[in-house]
Amino acid sequence: MTQSVPLFIDGEFCQSQSNDWIEVTNPATNKPIAQLPCTLDEEMQRAIESAEKAFMSWKHVAVSDRARVMLNYQQLLKEHHDELAEILSQETGKITLDAKGDVWRGIEVVEQAANIASNMMGETVENVATDIDTYSLIQPLGVCCGITPFNFPAMIPLWMFPIAIAAGNTFVLKPSEQVPLTSIRLAELFEQAGAPKGVLQIVHGGKQQVDYLLAHPKIRTVSFVGSVPVAQYIYHTGTSHNKRVQAFAGAKNHMVVMPDANKNQVLTNLVGSSVGAAGQRCMAISVAVFVGSAKEWIADLKTEMAKMKPGAWNDQDAAYGPLISQQAKTRVLNLISEGKAQGAVCELDGSQCEVEGFPDGNWVGPTLFSGVSTEMSIYKQEIFGPVLVCIEVDTLEQAIELINSNPYGNGTSIFTASGAAARKYQHEIQVGQVGVNVPIPVPLPFFSFTGWRGSFYGDLHAYGKQAVRFYTETKTVTARWFDDDIPTGPNLTIHLR
Ligand code: NAD
Repeated sequence: MTQSVPLFIDGEFCQSQSNDWIEVTNPATNKPIAQLPCTLDEEMQRAIESAEKAFMSWKHVAVSDRARVMLNYQQLLKEHHDELAEILSQETGKITLDAKGDVWRGIEVVEQAANIASNMMGETVENVATDIDTYSLIQPLGVCCGITPFNFPAMIPLWMFPIAIAAGNTFVLKPSEQVPLTSIRLAELFEQAGAPKGVLQIVHGGKQQVDYLLAHPKIRTVSFVGSVPVAQYIYHTGTSHNKRVQAFAGAKNHMVVMPDANKNQVLTNLVGSSVGAAGQRCMAISVAVFVGSAKEWIADLKTEMAKMKPGAWNDQDAAYGPLISQQAKTRVLNLISEGKAQGAVCELDGSQCEVEGFPDGNWVGPTLFSGVSTEMSIYKQEIFGPVLVCIEVDTLEQAIELINSNPYGNGTSIFTASGAAARKYQHEIQVGQVGVNVPIPVPLPFFSFTGWRGSFYGDLHAYGKQAVRFYTETKTVTARWFDDDIPTGPNLTIHLR
C-alpha cells in the first residue's frame, strides 16, 4: 500500500474525500510511491475560507513576530535539510547533490523572508504643506495562492509562501501533482516553526483545482511557475478575474562562447549546465552559440559530455537522474528524432540509455547536436532534457541578434576574457538574467528572479524586493496635526505598553 498524500486545511493534515486520485511515481523505477487526491470543490472552499479567517488575525501580528516564525523555520529547514532532500529525490529522481541544492536555494529565500521588516518600510515626506506630512504604509493583501511545477519541489514553493506570509498574507499552495510529498513536509516544518493555524493551506490536483483558485473571489494574487502554455492561460484567466498574477514560464537559454574564453571553464560549465538535473531546469543552458573559431571546441565538448552518466539518486557516480515521467522521456526522444530528421548532426545520442538495476527508469543519456539552425524544432522548442544544441556564428553581434530574436528571455551567459565583450553583451541582450563566465546566473534572494519576454507574464518578479511589492499594497497617509491641539498642563501623561 502506498501512502495517500494529505491535504493541509485549517491547520490539519487530513484525507480528501475525493474519488479521483493520481498516482505519484519514483521516476527511477516508475513504481508508485503515493496516491494524490484531486481536491473536491468543498475542500478547496474550506481551505480558502480558513486562509481568509487566518488573515484577519495574522495581518495584525507584529512584523518582528512574523519574522521570528521565518527564523525558526530557517533553523528547522536546516536541521531537516538531508531528510527533505531524500523525500525530494524519491519523487523527482534527482541525485543527492541536486536535491540538496534544491532545498538549500529555498532556505535562502526563507532567510530573506526573515528580513521582511526592512522590505516593508514605507516612505515619508515631511511638510508636504504647512503642518502636513505624507507617508506610505506597505500592507498585506489577503489570501494569495501558488501553483508550482515538478522540477524544484522545495525551492519554488519556498520562493512563494514564506515571503507572502512574512508580509502578513495567508497562502494556499497547489504543488505539482507529480511531486507533492516535499510540500507536505515543508508544511509540517512550517507548523512546527510556529506558523499559526490556517496561514498556509495545501490542496492537490490539476487544472480543475487551479481553475477553482483562479476564479475564487477571495484569492488576491496568483504566483505560477511552469510551462509556457499554462503560464499564458494562468495569466489571462487570473487577470480576467482581477487578480494580480506573476507567471514564470519556460525557457531556451543560450551560452555565448567567445574564442578568447578559458576553454576548460567553457567545457566544464557547458556540460554541467546543460545535462545537470537531466536538463530539467528552467535556467539550464540548452543552446551553445560558438563565435568564430570557438566552434573547434565542439569535438572536446562531445568527449566531456559522453563522460556524464545518469543514475539513481544515491549513486555517487551519477551525474544526474531520470526524467520526471515516461511521457517526458517520450517527448524528449521524439525531439531528438526530429533533430536528426531535420538535418542536425547528432554528435552524441542519448536516446538508447540504460541504467543497471533500474530497467524501468526514464533515462536519457547526454545528447549533443551540432549544425543546428533556428528553424529546427530542437532549437525552437524547450526540450527540458539533457540535450545541448550548438549553433555557430561569426561575430558577437550575430550572437546577440540570434538570442534577441528567440522568444524566450529567462537566462543567458557569455564566456569570454574580454571585459568589453561582456559589457556589450550584458547591455544589449534582452534576457532577464545574464551570467558573465557564470553558466546559470540565478540571483540570490536579496535580488529578484527576473525572467523576461516569453519566459515571464506579469510585472513583479519572484523573491527579493519585487516579491514583497507583489504580495502587498501601498497606502499613503496625509496627516495634519494642529499645534492648538497639543495637550498642556499637569494631567499630561504618556502611556507606554
Ligand atoms: P506544467 O505547466 O505542466 O505544470 C505546472 C503547474 O501547472 C502544475 O502545478 C500543474 O498541475 C498545473 N497545470 C498543468 N496544466 C494545467 C492547466 N491546463 N491548467 C491549469 N493548471 C495546469 O509545468 P511542469 O512540467 O510541472 O514544469 C516544467 C516547466 O516549468 C518548464 O517549462 C520549465 O521551464 C518551467 N519552469 C519555469 C521556471 C521559471 O522560473 N521560469 C522555473 C521552473 C520551471
